[in-house]
Amino acid sequence: MARIEFSGRFEAGARTNLVPGASYLGFGCHSCAADIAALDAPGAQDGVEISGRGSFHLQCPRCGAADDYPIAEMRLWEAATAMPGG
Ligand SMILES: [Zn+2]
Repeated sequence: MARIEFSGRFEAGARTNLVPGASYLGFGCHSCAADIAALDAPGAQDGVEISGRGSFHLQCPRCGAADDYPIAEMRLWEAATAMPGG
């Protein structure tokens, strides 16, 4: 299992061209609940343990809401389609 530790505050652009079937790390939008992809997560099929005290500032590609997302809310998912939030 991969381990990733974040510390600090990250300004990240949400990924907008997703590869169906690929794994991403990101957050659920606080406004519309769409998946916001912050990072590629290649090789994460074995699972990934996320720790740290940082946060990401992200803008949702679907509804446009920008917010701070603490690392504790980060999750791993597999993109079903190439559309962000799809
Ligand atoms: Zn949204």
